[in-house]
Amino acid sequence: MAMISGRGLHDERDAAPSLFDRLPVGVCIVTASGIILQANPALHDLLGCEQGGLPGRSCREFGFDLQGAGEAAEDPTPACRAVRNDGSTRWVTVDEAPWTLAPLDMDAESATDRLRLLTVTDVDSVFRQARPAGESAGGSAAQDEMPVVDALLEASPVPLFVKDAAGQYIAVNHAFARLTGISRDEMLQRTTFALTSPNIAEEHVGHDRDLLERDGSVHYEAPICTAEGAMRMVNLTKAAFRDGSGKPAGIVGAIHELTESRPHEERLEAILEQSPIGVSVSRRDDGRIIFVNTRFAELIGLSREKLIGSRARDYYLDSHQRLRVLERLRGGGGVTNMEVQFKRADGSPFWTLFTVNQAVIQGMPVNLAWIYDYTERRSMEEALRDMASRDPLTGIYNRRFFMDMARAQVARAHRFHEPLSIFVLDVDHFKRINDTFGHATGDDALRMVAAGCQAILREYDVLGRLGGEEFVVVLPGATAEESRVVAERVRRHLARMPIEAPEGTFRLTASIGIAGLEGATDTLERAIHRADLALYRAKHLGRNRVVVFEPGM
Ligand code: GH3
Ligand code: MG
Ligand code: MG
Repeated sequence: MAMISGRGLHDERDAAPSLFDRLPVGVCIVTASGIILQANPALHDLLGCEQGGLPGRSCREFGFDLQGAGEAAEDPTPACRAVRNDGSTRWVTVDEAPWTLAPLDMDAESATDRLRLLTVTDVDSVFRQARPAGESAGGSAAQDEMPVVDALLEASPVPLFVKDAAGQYIAVNHAFARLTGISRDEMLQRTTFALTSPNIAEEHVGHDRDLLERDGSVHYEAPICTAEGAMRMVNLTKAAFRDGSGKPAGIVGAIHELTESRPHEERLEAILEQSPIGVSVSRRDDGRIIFVNTRFAELIGLSREKLIGSRARDYYLDSHQRLRVLERLRGGGGVTNMEVQFKRADGSPFWTLFTVNQAVIQGMPVNLAWIYDYTERRSMEEALRDMASRDPLTGIYNRRFFMDMARAQVARAHRFHEPLSIFVLDVDHFKRINDTFGHATGDDALRMVAAGCQAILREYDVLGRLGGEEFVVVLPGATAEESRVVAERVRRHLARMPIEAPEGTFRLTASIGIAGLEGATDTLERAIHRADLALYRAKHLGRNRVVVFEPGM
């Protein structure tokens, strides 16, 4: 809307006066009450004043009415007649935008008033052709007035467009081409679908259809893809026009660039772009996403164009987690750093710390979501948890974790009246292995024993290292006799297993004692103790054997 952005002036203070001075359109900064603080030479010329004659005067003297306290001009301003210094009039369009920075050469204190930036474009030559002096502008855009309409379109700094009843563009102005980065010739063969994502385009088409069916105008916000490739929220105003016979012939519309007129938002957007946190804004009514930053697009693995207009719900992995978030939002609250899993476009999951707050942006209730990719930290936590549960030498469960797991299995066996048994395995003459081949080879042997057991055991058997060269297994669902078969297989497998040492290959044997769970009050500790007694017996009987506990051992 404004020909120069506030940011440009602010950032390049030195260059700004000349830029301001050379603008071909009239520009002035006015207070809320309409007093002109600063005006460029073009505006002085346009209003027939001597250079420097404008500051201090009210813009109302020249026929400009401020649109008021709104953050941005609500509608595209129709052309109006400016009253020049000598009393003559000229047709102009006046565009108004909030000016949130101190005007040039002015200290910040005196800028506490709400300032407006007015852009005044001379459209007099076009209007004088079109209508006799005194007649007001506006009215229908009948086909025979098209050249005038074209000229009008061109003169407007506001992006304007005309579509036929089928939705094809039949006229767009220069400002429109500049905003979208699509040349006029290209645009004239296209529909809204060329400008935005299919979802959003459908929304535009829906509005157009309504307008063609009834008279009036609509005013709404929608994201569009700009020439720079960014998605930007704009304000659209549209109305239908009719042909000579009164049939609906098409749609005329104007685009207000909300963000361009809001330096703060531009700066905010720049900050969001740098953010390592994914940010999205979605409409609360239909859940559609209207803004995402680059990080969000990276995390999901989809382009912004695809994301805009899609539904936030599509990216949750777990519907329960989504419902939990929704519940909190429905209750009027927000969600802070909730662990939520989302999925990428390729379906792969990732963990996030998820924060959502409700807000109202430009009158639209929205959800502001922040997602922090937490996958790495989470897998680190998992690794730590793993470290706490596993024996570092062999990688199988350590004693503490084994006991927890086994205790749960014992409770389960009691509850379902199912058998369960336990065996304890001790490597025979392990001291000799250490003595003969050294401690490092002893360690290798222990790793081999753990792997050898694992190879034979069933998936749901739980193997742990009790300590030293002693291992323990809980076999859910197996009686002591059934376990004996498994234990025998383990024993044979270990006895055949060659173990490499620098001095050459050797073998080892192990003894195994077995005990079954006995009665409803038996405990894990007691069962392990009985298995130990059976193991002791196996050692006593000559090692490399399996013994099932019997009373009296
Ligand atoms: P038995 O047949 O009666 O079981 O004889 P053994 O030599 O295996 O019995 P003992 O319990 O006396 O010896 C166990 C040895 O295991 C003693 C200890 O040095 C060794 N050991 C315990 N933990 C480790 C370990 O982590 N690595 C190595 N290399 N040796 C270990
Ligand atoms: Mg031993
Ligand atoms: Mg031992």
